[in-house]
Amino acid sequence: MKMSRLFTKTRKQAPADEVARNAQLLIKAGYIHKEMAGVYAYLPLGLKVIENIKAIVREEMNATGGQELIMTSLQRKELWETTDRWDDEKVDVWFKSSLKNGTEVGFGWSHEEQITEMMKNYITSYRDLPANVYQFQTKLRNELRAKSGIMRGREFVMKDAYTYSRSDEEHQKIYDAITEAYLRVFERVGLGDVTFVTFASGGAFTQYSHEFQTLSEAGEDIVFRVPSTGETFNEEIAPAKAAAVKADKELLPMQSIEGKGVIGVEALAKQMGIAPEKTTKTMLYQAADGAVIAVVIRGGRKINEEKLAAIAGSSVKLADEATVKRVTGAEIGYAGLLNLPSDVRIIVDDSCAGLTNFEMGANKTNYHNCNVNWGRDLPEPEQFYDIKIAVSGDLHPETGEVYEVHKAAEVGNIFSFGTTKSEQLGLYFSDEDGTERPVVLGSYGIGITRLMGVLVEHFADERGIVWPENVAPYQVVLVRLGASDEVTAEADALYEKLQSSGVTVLYDDRDARAGEKFADADLIGIPHRVVISEKLVAAGKVEYKHRTKAEPELLTTKELEKRLRSPMKH
Ligand code: ATP
Ligand code: MG
Repeated sequence: MKMSRLFTKTRKQAPADEVARNAQLLIKAGYIHKEMAGVYAYLPLGLKVIENIKAIVREEMNATGGQELIMTSLQRKELWETTDRWDDEKVDVWFKSSLKNGTEVGFGWSHEEQITEMMKNYITSYRDLPANVYQFQTKLRNELRAKSGIMRGREFVMKDAYTYSRSDEEHQKIYDAITEAYLRVFERVGLGDVTFVTFASGGAFTQYSHEFQTLSEAGEDIVFRVPSTGETFNEEIAPAKAAAVKADKELLPMQSIEGKGVIGVEALAKQMGIAPEKTTKTMLYQAADGAVIAVVIRGGRKINEEKLAAIAGSSVKLADEATVKRVTGAEIGYAGLLNLPSDVRIIVDDSCAGLTNFEMGANKTNYHNCNVNWGRDLPEPEQFYDIKIAVSGDLHPETGEVYEVHKAAEVGNIFSFGTTKSEQLGLYFSDEDGTERPVVLGSYGIGITRLMGVLVEHFADERGIVWPENVAPYQVVLVRLGASDEVTAEADALYEKLQSSGVTVLYDDRDARAGEKFADADLIGIPHRVVISEKLVAAGKVEYKHRTKAEPELLTTKELEKRLRSPMKH
Protein backbone atom coordinates (compact mmCIF):
# COMPACT_ATOMS: atom_id res chain seq x y z
CA MET A 1 0.00 0.00 0.00
CA LYS A 2 1.33 3.38 -0.95
CA MET A 3 0.90 5.83 1.86
CA SER A 4 0.26 8.64 -0.59
CA ARG A 5 -2.92 6.76 -1.52
CA LEU A 6 -4.02 5.74 1.96
CA PHE A 7 -6.99 7.95 2.73
CA THR A 8 -6.33 7.92 6.47
CA LYS A 9 -3.77 10.32 7.87
CA THR A 10 -2.02 10.30 11.18
CA ARG A 11 -3.07 13.05 13.53
CA LYS A 12 -1.43 14.79 16.44
CA GLN A 13 -4.37 14.65 18.81
CA ALA A 14 -7.04 12.15 19.69
CA PRO A 15 -10.52 13.53 20.52
CA ALA A 16 -10.48 15.24 23.90
CA ASP A 17 -13.13 12.90 25.29
CA GLU A 18 -11.11 9.80 24.49
CA VAL A 19 -9.46 8.68 27.71
CA ALA A 20 -8.22 5.19 26.83
CA ARG A 21 -4.65 4.93 25.60
CA ASN A 22 -5.49 2.15 23.12
CA ALA A 23 -8.14 4.23 21.37
CA GLN A 24 -6.06 7.41 21.52
CA LEU A 25 -3.18 5.71 19.73
CA LEU A 26 -5.40 3.88 17.26
CA ILE A 27 -7.23 7.09 16.35
CA LYS A 28 -4.01 9.08 16.02
CA ALA A 29 -2.46 6.43 13.80
CA GLY A 30 -5.58 6.14 11.61
CA TYR A 31 -6.74 2.64 12.57
CA ILE A 32 -10.14 3.54 13.95
CA HIS A 33 -12.71 6.32 13.90
CA LYS A 34 -14.70 7.19 16.97
CA GLU A 35 -18.38 7.48 16.24
CA MET A 36 -19.37 7.93 19.89
CA ALA A 37 -18.36 6.57 23.28
CA GLY A 38 -17.79 2.83 22.92
CA VAL A 39 -18.60 2.85 19.21
CA TYR A 40 -15.71 2.75 16.76
CA ALA A 41 -15.38 2.25 13.03
CA TYR A 42 -12.44 0.21 11.75
CA LEU A 43 -10.52 1.89 8.95
CA PRO A 44 -8.33 0.06 6.42
CA LEU A 45 -5.36 -0.37 8.76
CA GLY A 46 -7.60 -1.38 11.66
CA LEU A 47 -9.52 -3.83 9.53
CA LYS A 48 -6.28 -5.53 8.52
CA VAL A 49 -5.37 -6.06 12.17
CA ILE A 50 -8.81 -7.45 12.92
CA GLU A 51 -8.58 -9.78 9.92
CA ASN A 52 -5.13 -10.97 10.99
CA ILE A 53 -6.40 -11.76 14.49
CA LYS A 54 -9.46 -13.45 13.03
CA ALA A 55 -7.31 -15.56 10.70
CA ILE A 56 -5.38 -16.94 13.67
CA VAL A 57 -8.55 -17.62 15.64
CA ARG A 58 -10.19 -19.19 12.60
CA GLU A 59 -7.27 -21.55 12.05
CA GLU A 60 -7.30 -22.67 15.66
CA MET A 61 -11.08 -23.06 15.80
CA ASN A 62 -11.10 -25.05 12.57
CA ALA A 63 -8.43 -27.29 14.07
CA THR A 64 -10.85 -28.19 16.90
CA GLY A 65 -13.46 -29.17 14.30
CA GLY A 66 -15.28 -25.86 14.35
CA GLN A 67 -17.48 -24.88 11.39
CA GLU A 68 -17.96 -21.21 10.67
CA LEU A 69 -21.31 -19.53 10.14
CA ILE A 70 -22.93 -16.15 10.78
CA MET A 71 -26.07 -15.72 12.82
CA THR A 72 -28.36 -12.71 12.64
CA SER A 73 -28.15 -9.48 14.59
CA LEU A 74 -31.91 -9.09 14.97
CA GLN A 75 -33.30 -11.57 17.44
CA ARG A 76 -36.72 -12.79 18.50
CA LYS A 77 -37.96 -11.87 21.93
CA GLU A 78 -39.78 -15.19 22.48
CA LEU A 79 -36.62 -17.22 22.33
CA TRP A 80 -34.94 -15.17 25.01
CA GLU A 81 -38.06 -15.43 27.14
CA THR A 82 -37.76 -19.21 27.05
CA THR A 83 -34.49 -18.96 28.96
CA ASP A 84 -35.59 -15.96 31.03
CA ARG A 85 -33.00 -13.63 29.56
CA TRP A 86 -35.21 -11.07 27.82
CA ASP A 87 -35.90 -9.18 31.03
CA ASP A 88 -33.67 -6.10 31.46
CA GLU A 89 -33.37 -6.99 35.12
CA LYS A 90 -31.73 -10.28 34.16
CA VAL A 91 -29.60 -9.00 31.28
CA ASP A 92 -28.59 -5.37 31.63
CA VAL A 93 -26.97 -4.81 28.22
CA TRP A 94 -29.94 -5.21 25.88
CA PHE A 95 -30.55 -2.90 22.97
CA LYS A 96 -34.13 -3.49 21.90
CA SER A 97 -36.34 -2.19 19.15
CA SER A 98 -39.52 -3.15 17.37
CA LEU A 99 -40.69 -3.91 13.88
CA LYS A 100 -43.22 -1.68 12.09
CA ASN A 101 -45.98 -4.07 13.14
CA GLY A 102 -45.00 -3.68 16.77
CA THR A 103 -43.17 -6.99 17.19
CA GLU A 104 -40.36 -6.52 19.67
CA VAL A 105 -36.86 -7.54 18.62
CA GLY A 106 -33.51 -7.53 20.36
CA PHE A 107 -30.07 -6.73 18.96
CA GLY A 108 -27.77 -9.68 19.45
CA TRP A 109 -25.54 -9.26 22.49
CA SER A 110 -25.01 -13.04 22.54
CA HIS A 111 -26.19 -15.93 20.39
CA GLU A 112 -26.40 -19.03 22.56
CA GLU A 113 -30.17 -19.18 22.34
CA GLN A 114 -30.34 -18.51 18.59
CA ILE A 115 -27.69 -21.02 17.62
CA THR A 116 -29.05 -23.69 19.91
CA GLU A 117 -32.59 -23.18 18.63
CA MET A 118 -31.28 -23.33 15.05
CA MET A 119 -29.30 -26.50 15.80
CA LYS A 120 -32.56 -28.24 16.76
CA ASN A 121 -33.10 -28.56 13.02
CA TYR A 122 -29.92 -30.56 12.63
CA ILE A 123 -29.32 -32.44 15.86
CA THR A 124 -31.69 -35.30 16.48
CA SER A 125 -29.51 -38.35 16.90
CA TYR A 126 -26.25 -39.27 18.64
CA ARG A 127 -24.82 -39.52 15.12
CA ASP A 128 -25.15 -35.74 14.80
CA LEU A 129 -22.90 -35.20 17.81
CA PRO A 130 -20.53 -33.68 18.68
CA ALA A 131 -21.17 -30.47 16.78
CA ASN A 132 -18.91 -27.43 16.97
CA VAL A 133 -19.87 -24.13 15.34
CA TYR A 134 -18.55 -20.60 15.55
CA GLN A 135 -18.88 -17.14 14.10
CA PHE A 136 -17.25 -13.73 14.11
CA GLN A 137 -19.87 -11.18 14.76
CA THR A 138 -20.46 -7.64 15.85
CA LYS A 139 -22.22 -7.81 19.19
CA LEU A 140 -24.31 -4.94 20.41
CA ARG A 141 -24.34 -4.29 24.13
CA ASN A 142 -25.67 -1.33 26.02
CA GLU A 143 -22.70 -1.24 28.37
CA LEU A 144 -23.10 1.18 31.25
CA ARG A 145 -19.55 2.47 30.96
CA ALA A 146 -17.38 2.69 27.88
CA LYS A 147 -14.13 4.21 29.03
CA SER A 148 -11.67 1.55 27.98
CA GLY A 149 -11.56 2.43 24.29
CA ILE A 150 -11.97 -0.58 22.05
CA MET A 151 -11.49 -2.85 25.07
CA ARG A 152 -15.12 -2.23 26.03
CA GLY A 153 -17.31 -1.32 23.13
CA ARG A 154 -21.05 -0.95 22.83
CA GLU A 155 -20.46 -2.51 19.44
CA PHE A 156 -17.57 -4.96 19.21
CA VAL A 157 -16.37 -7.98 17.32
CA MET A 158 -16.52 -11.29 19.13
CA LYS A 159 -15.70 -14.79 18.07
CA ASP A 160 -18.26 -17.00 19.69
CA ALA A 161 -18.29 -20.76 19.45
CA TYR A 162 -20.82 -23.32 20.64
CA THR A 163 -20.38 -27.02 21.13
CA TYR A 164 -23.00 -29.72 21.40
CA SER A 165 -22.07 -33.03 22.96
CA ARG A 166 -23.62 -36.32 23.82
CA SER A 167 -22.24 -36.65 27.33
CA ASP A 168 -20.24 -34.80 29.94
CA GLU A 169 -17.15 -36.79 28.94
CA GLU A 170 -17.49 -35.85 25.29
CA HIS A 171 -18.13 -32.25 26.28
CA GLN A 172 -15.08 -32.15 28.53
CA LYS A 173 -12.87 -33.34 25.67
CA ILE A 174 -14.00 -30.51 23.39
CA TYR A 175 -13.86 -28.02 26.22
CA ASP A 176 -10.23 -29.00 26.89
CA ALA A 177 -9.37 -28.90 23.18
CA ILE A 178 -10.82 -25.39 22.86
CA THR A 179 -8.95 -24.32 25.99
CA GLU A 180 -5.73 -25.44 24.30
CA ALA A 181 -6.74 -23.72 21.05
CA TYR A 182 -7.33 -20.48 22.94
CA LEU A 183 -3.93 -20.69 24.59
CA ARG A 184 -2.37 -21.13 21.14
CA VAL A 185 -4.26 -18.08 19.88
CA PHE A 186 -2.91 -15.91 22.68
CA GLU A 187 0.57 -17.33 22.15
CA ARG A 188 0.42 -16.59 18.43
CA VAL A 189 -0.70 -12.99 18.87
CA GLY A 190 2.24 -12.47 21.21
CA LEU A 191 0.49 -12.49 24.59
CA GLY A 192 1.28 -16.04 25.67
CA ASP A 193 3.51 -15.00 28.57
CA VAL A 194 0.92 -12.76 30.15
CA THR A 195 -2.33 -14.60 29.50
CA PHE A 196 -3.66 -17.08 32.05
CA VAL A 197 -6.61 -19.39 32.32
CA THR A 198 -8.49 -18.44 35.44
CA PHE A 199 -11.21 -20.11 37.42
CA ALA A 200 -14.25 -17.90 37.11
CA SER A 201 -17.71 -17.85 38.49
CA GLY A 202 -20.30 -19.55 36.36
CA GLY A 203 -22.84 -16.83 37.04
CA ALA A 204 -26.52 -17.54 37.20
CA PHE A 205 -26.76 -19.31 33.87
CA THR A 206 -23.89 -21.80 33.83
CA GLN A 207 -22.37 -24.81 35.52
CA TYR A 208 -18.78 -23.55 35.55
CA SER A 209 -16.53 -21.32 33.54
CA HIS A 210 -12.98 -20.28 32.89
CA GLU A 211 -11.63 -17.01 31.67
CA PHE A 212 -8.54 -16.06 29.76
CA GLN A 213 -7.08 -13.04 31.45
CA THR A 214 -4.23 -10.99 30.06
CA LEU A 215 -2.29 -9.05 32.65
CA SER A 216 -2.75 -5.40 31.78
CA GLU A 217 -2.93 -2.17 33.73
CA ALA A 218 -5.70 -1.13 31.35
CA GLY A 219 -7.82 -4.17 32.25
CA GLU A 220 -10.98 -3.87 34.30
CA ASP A 221 -10.55 -7.12 36.20
CA ILE A 222 -8.38 -8.25 39.08
CA VAL A 223 -6.84 -11.70 39.24
CA PHE A 224 -5.25 -13.54 42.13
CA ARG A 225 -2.34 -15.80 41.33
CA VAL A 226 -0.77 -18.43 43.57
CA PRO A 227 2.99 -17.87 43.17
CA SER A 228 4.13 -21.50 43.53
CA THR A 229 1.52 -23.17 41.32
CA GLY A 230 0.49 -20.40 38.94
CA GLU A 231 -3.15 -21.20 39.68
CA THR A 232 -5.11 -18.04 38.96
CA PHE A 233 -8.54 -16.96 40.18
CA ASN A 234 -10.87 -14.16 39.33
CA GLU A 235 -11.64 -11.73 42.08
CA GLU A 236 -15.26 -12.94 42.39
CA ILE A 237 -14.29 -16.45 43.32
CA ALA A 238 -10.72 -16.35 44.68
CA PRO A 239 -10.66 -18.41 47.89
CA ALA A 240 -9.06 -16.12 50.45
CA LYS A 241 -7.70 -16.08 53.93
CA ALA A 242 -7.05 -12.74 55.61
CA ALA A 243 -3.62 -12.21 57.15
CA ALA A 244 -3.83 -13.04 60.87
CA VAL A 245 -4.12 -10.33 63.50
CA LYS A 246 -1.75 -10.76 66.42
CA ALA A 247 -3.63 -12.04 69.48
CA ASP A 248 -3.46 -10.01 72.69
CA LYS A 249 -1.94 -11.86 75.66
CA GLU A 250 -4.44 -10.44 78.10
CA LEU A 251 -8.18 -10.64 77.58
CA LEU A 252 -9.72 -7.37 78.74
CA PRO A 253 -13.17 -7.03 80.28
CA MET A 254 -15.95 -6.54 77.74
CA GLN A 255 -17.32 -3.00 77.67
CA SER A 256 -20.31 -1.31 76.13
CA ILE A 257 -19.39 1.93 74.37
CA GLU A 258 -21.60 4.59 72.89
CA GLY A 259 -20.82 5.22 69.25
CA LYS A 260 -23.66 7.41 68.10
CA GLY A 261 -23.22 8.62 64.54
CA VAL A 262 -19.83 6.96 64.20
CA ILE A 263 -19.82 5.66 60.66
CA GLY A 264 -17.17 3.50 59.04
CA VAL A 265 -14.48 1.19 60.29
CA GLU A 266 -11.77 3.81 60.63
CA ALA A 267 -13.92 6.17 62.69
CA LEU A 268 -15.17 3.32 64.82
CA ALA A 269 -11.69 1.96 65.46
CA LYS A 270 -10.50 5.43 66.38
CA GLN A 271 -13.36 6.01 68.76
CA MET A 272 -12.72 2.63 70.41
CA GLY A 273 -8.98 3.08 70.44
CA ILE A 274 -8.36 -0.19 68.62
CA ALA A 275 -6.83 -1.26 65.32
CA PRO A 276 -9.34 -1.32 62.41
CA GLU A 277 -8.73 -5.06 61.96
CA LYS A 278 -10.13 -5.63 65.44
CA THR A 279 -13.53 -4.33 64.46
CA THR A 280 -16.17 -6.66 63.08
CA LYS A 281 -19.22 -6.11 60.94
CA THR A 282 -22.42 -8.10 61.31
CA MET A 283 -24.84 -8.05 58.40
CA LEU A 284 -28.23 -9.69 58.43
CA TYR A 285 -29.19 -11.61 55.32
CA GLN A 286 -32.25 -13.61 54.37
CA ALA A 287 -32.23 -16.92 52.57
CA ALA A 288 -34.78 -17.71 49.87
CA ASP A 289 -37.14 -19.21 52.49
CA GLY A 290 -36.93 -16.01 54.57
CA ALA A 291 -34.69 -17.48 57.29
CA VAL A 292 -32.44 -14.83 58.79
CA ILE A 293 -28.68 -15.33 58.71
CA ALA A 294 -26.26 -13.18 60.72
CA VAL A 295 -23.07 -12.85 58.74
CA VAL A 296 -19.93 -11.63 60.49
CA ILE A 297 -16.77 -10.41 58.82
CA ARG A 298 -13.76 -8.39 59.89
CA GLY A 299 -14.18 -4.60 59.68
CA GLY A 300 -13.10 -3.16 56.35
CA ARG A 301 -13.78 -6.39 54.48
CA LYS A 302 -16.60 -6.98 52.03
CA ILE A 303 -18.91 -9.95 51.83
CA ASN A 304 -18.89 -12.01 48.65
CA GLU A 305 -22.53 -12.88 48.23
CA GLU A 306 -21.81 -15.73 45.82
CA LYS A 307 -19.57 -17.41 48.37
CA LEU A 308 -22.17 -16.73 51.04
CA ALA A 309 -24.95 -18.22 48.96
CA ALA A 310 -22.90 -21.37 48.35
CA ILE A 311 -22.40 -21.84 52.11
CA ALA A 312 -25.97 -20.89 52.99
CA GLY A 313 -27.20 -23.34 50.36
CA SER A 314 -29.66 -20.75 49.09
CA SER A 315 -29.74 -17.44 47.32
CA VAL A 316 -29.30 -14.61 49.81
CA LYS A 317 -30.33 -11.00 50.02
CA LEU A 318 -29.69 -8.34 52.62
CA ALA A 319 -32.47 -8.28 55.19
CA ASP A 320 -34.73 -5.24 55.03
CA GLU A 321 -34.79 -2.60 57.72
CA ALA A 322 -37.88 -3.96 59.46
CA THR A 323 -36.32 -7.41 59.73
CA VAL A 324 -33.08 -5.99 61.11
CA LYS A 325 -35.00 -4.01 63.72
CA ARG A 326 -37.15 -7.00 64.67
CA VAL A 327 -34.24 -9.40 65.00
CA THR A 328 -31.66 -7.14 66.64
CA GLY A 329 -34.00 -4.78 68.45
CA ALA A 330 -31.85 -1.92 67.16
CA GLU A 331 -31.51 0.43 64.22
CA ILE A 332 -29.40 -0.70 61.27
CA GLY A 333 -25.69 -0.38 62.00
CA TYR A 334 -25.50 -1.92 65.44
CA ALA A 335 -26.01 -5.61 64.73
CA GLY A 336 -23.79 -8.15 66.45
CA LEU A 337 -23.98 -11.72 67.67
CA LEU A 338 -24.57 -10.94 71.34
CA ASN A 339 -28.11 -11.77 72.45
CA LEU A 340 -29.46 -12.64 69.04
CA PRO A 341 -32.58 -14.82 68.91
CA SER A 342 -31.44 -18.43 68.91
CA ASP A 343 -33.12 -19.31 65.60
CA VAL A 344 -30.83 -16.96 63.69
CA ARG A 345 -28.23 -18.89 61.73
CA ILE A 346 -24.71 -17.58 62.17
CA ILE A 347 -21.99 -17.59 59.50
CA VAL A 348 -18.66 -16.08 60.53
CA ASP A 349 -15.86 -15.33 58.09
CA ASP A 350 -12.47 -16.77 58.98
CA SER A 351 -11.06 -13.24 59.12
CA CYS A 352 -12.68 -13.17 62.58
CA ALA A 353 -11.08 -16.41 63.79
CA GLY A 354 -8.47 -15.84 66.48
CA LEU A 355 -9.47 -12.21 67.05
CA THR A 356 -9.05 -11.08 70.66
CA ASN A 357 -10.49 -8.04 72.39
CA PHE A 358 -12.52 -7.15 69.32
CA GLU A 359 -15.38 -4.78 68.68
CA MET A 360 -18.88 -5.94 67.76
CA GLY A 361 -22.27 -4.26 67.38
CA ALA A 362 -24.29 -4.49 70.61
CA ASN A 363 -27.78 -4.99 69.10
CA LYS A 364 -28.64 -1.78 70.86
CA THR A 365 -29.03 1.48 68.95
CA ASN A 366 -25.87 3.62 69.19
CA TYR A 367 -23.92 1.00 71.10
CA HIS A 368 -20.99 -1.24 70.35
CA ASN A 369 -19.21 -3.69 72.58
CA CYS A 370 -15.48 -3.73 72.74
CA ASN A 371 -13.06 -6.29 74.10
CA VAL A 372 -15.37 -9.04 72.96
CA ASN A 373 -13.70 -12.46 73.04
CA TRP A 374 -14.72 -15.78 71.55
CA GLY A 375 -15.48 -18.45 74.12
CA ARG A 376 -15.86 -16.01 76.95
CA ASP A 377 -18.54 -13.58 75.69
CA LEU A 378 -19.78 -15.54 72.74
CA PRO A 379 -19.66 -19.20 71.85
CA GLU A 380 -16.80 -19.68 69.41
CA PRO A 381 -18.30 -20.84 66.07
CA GLU A 382 -17.64 -24.52 65.39
CA GLN A 383 -16.57 -23.56 61.93
CA PHE A 384 -15.38 -20.36 60.31
CA TYR A 385 -16.01 -19.84 56.58
CA ASP A 386 -14.57 -17.96 53.67
CA ILE A 387 -17.24 -15.51 52.57
CA LYS A 388 -15.02 -12.55 51.79
CA ILE A 389 -14.11 -10.74 48.61
CA ALA A 390 -10.39 -11.35 48.20
CA VAL A 391 -8.15 -8.30 48.48
CA SER A 392 -4.47 -7.63 48.01
CA GLY A 393 -2.52 -9.10 50.93
CA ASP A 394 -4.80 -12.12 51.31
CA LEU A 395 -3.44 -15.65 51.38
CA HIS A 396 -4.35 -18.62 49.25
CA PRO A 397 -5.92 -20.88 51.90
CA GLU A 398 -4.49 -24.16 50.64
CA THR A 399 -0.86 -23.13 50.29
CA GLY A 400 -0.82 -20.25 52.77
CA GLU A 401 1.01 -18.14 50.18
CA VAL A 402 0.28 -14.46 49.75
CA TYR A 403 -1.43 -14.01 46.38
CA GLU A 404 0.13 -12.02 43.58
CA VAL A 405 -2.57 -9.58 42.56
CA HIS A 406 -2.74 -8.20 39.03
CA LYS A 407 -4.99 -6.04 36.94
CA ALA A 408 -6.10 -7.98 33.90
CA ALA A 409 -8.30 -7.86 30.83
CA GLU A 410 -10.63 -10.73 30.04
CA VAL A 411 -9.81 -11.63 26.46
CA GLY A 412 -11.74 -14.88 26.40
CA ASN A 413 -14.36 -16.73 28.34
CA ILE A 414 -15.53 -20.34 28.16
CA PHE A 415 -18.62 -21.82 29.75
CA SER A 416 -20.07 -25.21 30.44
CA PHE A 417 -23.82 -25.04 30.42
CA GLY A 418 -24.43 -28.68 31.13
CA THR A 419 -27.89 -29.64 29.87
CA THR A 420 -29.87 -26.79 31.45
CA LYS A 421 -30.13 -24.65 28.37
CA SER A 422 -30.86 -27.60 26.07
CA GLU A 423 -33.66 -28.63 28.40
CA GLN A 424 -35.06 -25.08 28.41
CA LEU A 425 -34.92 -24.86 24.63
CA GLY A 426 -35.85 -28.47 23.99
CA LEU A 427 -32.68 -29.66 22.27
CA TYR A 428 -32.77 -33.44 22.73
CA PHE A 429 -31.18 -36.28 20.81
CA SER A 430 -31.88 -39.97 20.73
CA ASP A 431 -28.98 -41.98 22.06
CA GLU A 432 -27.75 -45.30 20.75
CA ASP A 433 -30.14 -47.19 23.00
CA GLY A 434 -33.05 -45.06 21.82
CA THR A 435 -33.41 -42.92 24.96
CA GLU A 436 -33.99 -39.20 24.54
CA ARG A 437 -31.33 -37.09 26.23
CA PRO A 438 -30.66 -33.36 26.44
CA VAL A 439 -27.54 -32.20 24.59
CA VAL A 440 -24.58 -30.97 26.68
CA LEU A 441 -23.79 -27.39 25.70
CA GLY A 442 -20.61 -25.32 25.83
CA SER A 443 -20.04 -21.72 24.78
CA TYR A 444 -16.73 -20.00 24.08
CA GLY A 445 -15.97 -16.34 23.43
CA ILE A 446 -12.96 -14.32 22.39
CA GLY A 447 -13.16 -10.55 22.27
CA ILE A 448 -11.48 -9.88 18.93
CA THR A 449 -11.53 -6.09 19.15
CA ARG A 450 -10.78 -6.16 22.88
CA LEU A 451 -7.77 -8.32 22.10
CA MET A 452 -6.64 -5.72 19.56
CA GLY A 453 -6.91 -3.05 22.28
CA VAL A 454 -4.99 -5.19 24.75
CA LEU A 455 -2.21 -5.67 22.17
CA VAL A 456 -1.94 -1.91 21.77
CA GLU A 457 -1.86 -1.38 25.53
CA HIS A 458 0.65 -4.14 26.10
CA PHE A 459 3.23 -3.36 23.44
CA ALA A 460 2.95 0.40 22.82
CA ASP A 461 5.80 2.66 23.85
CA GLU A 462 6.18 6.43 24.09
CA ARG A 463 6.46 6.71 20.32
CA GLY A 464 3.31 4.81 19.46
CA ILE A 465 1.88 1.41 18.66
CA VAL A 466 4.10 -1.67 18.40
CA TRP A 467 2.41 -4.57 16.61
CA PRO A 468 3.58 -8.11 17.09
CA GLU A 469 4.62 -9.67 13.81
CA ASN A 470 1.52 -11.87 13.37
CA VAL A 471 -1.13 -9.18 13.63
CA ALA A 472 0.61 -6.12 12.15
CA PRO A 473 -1.32 -4.59 9.22
CA TYR A 474 1.89 -4.69 7.18
CA GLN A 475 5.15 -6.38 7.98
CA VAL A 476 7.38 -3.68 6.52
CA VAL A 477 7.16 0.07 6.34
CA LEU A 478 9.34 1.21 3.48
CA VAL A 479 10.39 4.83 3.93
CA ARG A 480 11.63 6.68 0.88
CA LEU A 481 13.68 9.77 1.71
CA GLY A 482 14.11 12.19 -1.17
CA ALA A 483 12.43 12.03 -4.55
CA SER A 484 15.23 11.86 -7.07
CA ASP A 485 14.68 9.49 -9.97
CA GLU A 486 17.30 7.15 -8.59
CA VAL A 487 15.84 6.92 -5.12
CA THR A 488 12.33 6.59 -6.46
CA ALA A 489 13.36 3.83 -8.83
CA GLU A 490 15.18 1.91 -6.07
CA ALA A 491 12.35 2.28 -3.60
CA ASP A 492 9.68 1.35 -6.15
CA ALA A 493 11.71 -1.69 -7.15
CA LEU A 494 12.15 -2.84 -3.54
CA TYR A 495 8.43 -2.30 -2.91
CA GLU A 496 7.58 -4.58 -5.83
CA LYS A 497 10.19 -7.13 -4.94
CA LEU A 498 9.19 -7.49 -1.32
CA GLN A 499 5.54 -7.78 -2.24
CA SER A 500 6.20 -10.41 -4.86
CA SER A 501 8.08 -12.45 -2.28
CA GLY A 502 4.96 -12.37 -0.08
CA VAL A 503 5.99 -9.61 2.32
CA THR A 504 3.29 -7.03 3.02
CA VAL A 505 4.57 -3.46 2.69
CA LEU A 506 3.33 -0.01 3.59
CA TYR A 507 5.31 2.25 1.29
CA ASP A 508 5.83 5.78 2.54
CA ASP A 509 6.19 7.47 -0.84
CA ARG A 510 4.87 10.79 0.45
CA ASP A 511 6.54 14.07 -0.06
CA ALA A 512 7.36 14.68 3.57
CA ARG A 513 10.31 15.35 5.86
CA ALA A 514 12.31 12.44 7.25
CA GLY A 515 11.34 13.30 10.82
CA GLU A 516 7.66 13.23 10.00
CA LYS A 517 7.94 9.94 8.14
CA PHE A 518 9.84 8.29 10.98
CA ALA A 519 7.40 9.59 13.58
CA ASP A 520 4.47 8.25 11.55
CA ALA A 521 6.15 4.88 11.04
CA ASP A 522 6.67 4.64 14.80
CA LEU A 523 3.12 5.73 15.60
CA ILE A 524 1.61 3.22 13.18
CA GLY A 525 3.79 0.51 14.67
CA ILE A 526 4.82 -1.65 11.71
CA PRO A 527 7.46 -4.15 12.94
CA HIS A 528 10.16 -3.64 10.28
CA ARG A 529 11.28 -0.27 8.97
CA VAL A 530 13.37 -0.04 5.84
CA VAL A 531 14.77 3.29 4.62
CA ILE A 532 16.02 4.17 1.17
CA SER A 533 17.79 7.47 0.56
CA GLU A 534 20.20 8.99 -1.90
CA LYS A 535 23.16 8.24 0.34
CA LEU A 536 22.05 4.65 0.91
CA VAL A 537 21.51 4.04 -2.79
CA ALA A 538 25.03 5.31 -3.46
CA ALA A 539 26.37 2.90 -0.82
CA GLY A 540 24.33 0.00 -2.20
CA LYS A 541 22.58 -0.47 1.14
CA VAL A 542 19.26 -0.02 2.86
CA GLU A 543 18.77 1.03 6.45
CA TYR A 544 16.89 -1.50 8.53
CA LYS A 545 15.43 -1.10 12.00
CA HIS A 546 13.00 -3.16 14.02
CA ARG A 547 10.28 -1.10 15.72
CA THR A 548 11.46 -2.23 19.15
CA LYS A 549 15.16 -1.46 18.59
CA ALA A 550 16.89 1.87 19.02
CA GLU A 551 19.70 1.50 16.50
CA PRO A 552 19.33 0.98 12.75
CA GLU A 553 21.63 -1.32 10.74
CA LEU A 554 22.86 -1.04 7.20
CA LEU A 555 22.03 -4.09 5.10
CA THR A 556 22.25 -5.13 1.48
CA THR A 557 18.93 -5.99 -0.14
CA LYS A 558 19.87 -9.66 0.07
CA GLU A 559 20.56 -9.43 3.78
CA LEU A 560 17.30 -7.59 4.23
CA GLU A 561 15.32 -10.33 2.53
CA LYS A 562 17.01 -12.91 4.70
CA ARG A 563 16.20 -10.90 7.80
CA LEU A 564 12.54 -10.64 6.86
CA ARG A 565 12.28 -14.37 6.20
CA SER A 566 13.22 -15.18 9.79
CA PRO A 567 11.53 -12.40 11.67
CA MET A 568 12.61 -11.89 15.25
CA LYS A 569 10.15 -12.28 18.04
CA HIS A 570 9.84 -9.63 20.66
P1 ATP B 1 -16.96 -8.49 30.68
O1 ATP B 1 -16.97 -9.15 32.03
O2 ATP B 1 -15.64 -7.87 30.35
O3 ATP B 1 -18.13 -7.59 30.46
P2 ATP B 1 -18.40 -10.67 29.57
O4 ATP B 1 -18.32 -11.64 30.68
O5 ATP B 1 -19.62 -9.86 29.40
O6 ATP B 1 -17.12 -9.70 29.64
P3 ATP B 1 -18.76 -12.55 27.39
O7 ATP B 1 -20.19 -12.25 27.26
O8 ATP B 1 -18.37 -13.88 27.88
O9 ATP B 1 -18.01 -11.41 28.22
O10 ATP B 1 -18.05 -12.27 26.01
C1 ATP B 1 -16.94 -13.00 25.52
C2 ATP B 1 -15.74 -12.09 25.31
O11 ATP B 1 -16.09 -10.91 24.58
C3 ATP B 1 -15.15 -11.56 26.59
O12 ATP B 1 -14.27 -12.47 27.16
C4 ATP B 1 -14.45 -10.31 26.14
O13 ATP B 1 -13.17 -10.62 25.64
C5 ATP B 1 -15.31 -9.82 25.01
N1 ATP B 1 -16.19 -8.72 25.43
C6 ATP B 1 -17.25 -8.77 26.27
N2 ATP B 1 -17.84 -7.57 26.38
C7 ATP B 1 -17.13 -6.74 25.57
C8 ATP B 1 -17.24 -5.36 25.24
N3 ATP B 1 -18.22 -4.61 25.74
N4 ATP B 1 -16.35 -4.83 24.37
C9 ATP B 1 -15.37 -5.59 23.84
N5 ATP B 1 -15.21 -6.89 24.12
C10 ATP B 1 -16.07 -7.46 24.96
MG1 MG C 1 -20.09 -7.99 30.12
